[in-house]
Amino acid sequence: MRMSHIALGLTLLSGCAGRQPAPLVPGRWVDLTHAFSGQTIYWPTAEPFRLEKVFEGTTAKGFHYAANRFSAAEHGGTHMDAPIHFAEEAATVDRVVLDQLIGPAVVVDVSSKALANRDYRVGVADLVDFERAHGSIPVNSIVLLRTGYERFWPDPVKYLGTAERGEEAVAKLHFPGLAPEAAEWLARQRRIRAVGLDTASIDYGQSTLFESHRILARHNIPIFENVAGLGELPAIGATIVALPMKIEGGSGAPLRIVAWTPGR
Ligand SMILES: [Zn+2]
Repeated sequence: MRMSHIALGLTLLSGCAGRQPAPLVPGRWVDLTHAFSGQTIYWPTAEPFRLEKVFEGTTAKGFHYAANRFSAAEHGGTHMDAPIHFAEEAATVDRVVLDQLIGPAVVVDVSSKALANRDYRVGVADLVDFERAHGSIPVNSIVLLRTGYERFWPDPVKYLGTAERGEEAVAKLHFPGLAPEAAEWLARQRRIRAVGLDTASIDYGQSTLFESHRILARHNIPIFENVAGLGELPAIGATIVALPMKIEGGSGAPLRIVAWTPGR
């Protein structure tokens, strides 16, 4: 069983990444995706996820058949922001290349600070602290920020800071994010492949100018939001496979994100 898992992992990683065959390490897959349901958290102004039954049961010819239809905003639940979300004429979801979505992860755990301060912004100092402990963040890493807010999912009061909906609710959002200076540092000094975190937005809840989004978009860096399961990953050594729904012209999309994690 384990061998077949490993074989599958290696085939998939070497097949998709192309230029970077995966190392021969034993490990397992970790799902970093929240399931989509009526409970899924969306931005206060965004349409939530809806699943409508089209048919479920036995057909006139005697066989079972089930089918649904769904609708949702692009930006909610575990999803990806494409650069076009905050940069004119930048890449849409369908044009973000696979090389940016599959690669080695570093997981920066700031949960002790972020859980103590809902408005915490991960700064350059946090990234430097990480590097002191784990070595320099390699070029082309997928940087994942663990704030610890996953534990509040799917309670909007604890996760977002408010359960209210609509335009007025936006000012009541309180959750941690990435400081603009740190976004700039990751883009310029570490030339990362992608960035993700376990909150609803890469900019903290109180942001009104969405500067980190804009900086990352300008550098053509996709963003993964509402990521789950970061506590199961090592600080270094995991490989991320993050595949958004390929919406032509989309500014973002639901994302299935998983990690290959070394270990027995
Ligand atoms: Zn988004």
